[in-house]
Amino acid sequence: MNFSELGLNPSIVKALAEEGYEKPTAVQNQAIPAALAGGDLLVSSQTGSGKTAAFMLPSLERLAHPPKSTGTGPRVLVLTPTRELAQQVKTAAETYSKHLRRVRTVCVVGGTAYPQQLRSLKAPFEVLVATPGRLLDLATSGRIDFSRLEVLVLDEADRMLDMGFIGDVDRIAAEARWRKQTMLFSATLEGAGLRKFAEDLLKDPAELF
Ligand code: AMP
Repeated sequence: MNFSELGLNPSIVKALAEEGYEKPTAVQNQAIPAALAGGDLLVSSQTGSGKTAAFMLPSLERLAHPPKSTGTGPRVLVLTPTRELAQQVKTAAETYSKHLRRVRTVCVVGGTAYPQQLRSLKAPFEVLVATPGRLLDLATSGRIDFSRLEVLVLDEADRMLDMGFIGDVDRIAAEARWRKQTMLFSATLEGAGLRKFAEDLLKDPAELF
């Protein structure tokens, strides 16, 4: 299978070719068609497996089509445990979406000055990558419009649990209740904590790997 056979838009496939991606990795082969079908996903994946593209490409595919509702907030929200990972995911989103029209990506993380962050949220944007604590601050003060959110992704969910973000993530997921799809990626799917987290957030997920 190549990326177009997986069902991705030619603009996305072009960006991948420019990055030198010749064929999908194992997790991409499984997760991309499953995500494009629209259901929830629970995926076990290590760093280095190509997991970022596995959730980002099918999420960006939605952005090749006009939104179903109006609003200026994100259509895709990715939560990550650390600022560094958030920055990497933002860069990946920008790289893969560079030939799609009107896709703006914003990154919201702790340690950044609030005025600068608020400015970045003023113009409409499509993809939001964030760490849970800072996003929750902004969401509960009404700074983020979740009304057109389609996809929520939890990246490295096991680390978010270990770092004590479960309460923040639950509250963000409640704000993001109009979403159509949730994907949880984690190095491990073992452990009662992770299973409970997944059960609370995902509806009838396809479990991969
Ligand atoms: P990740 O597991 O998402 O951190 O990705 C690990 C690295 O693999 C990143 O540098 C990606 O740019 C790269 N990568 C992801 N998918 C592919 C692919 N299909 N072909 C070549 N490189 C890839």
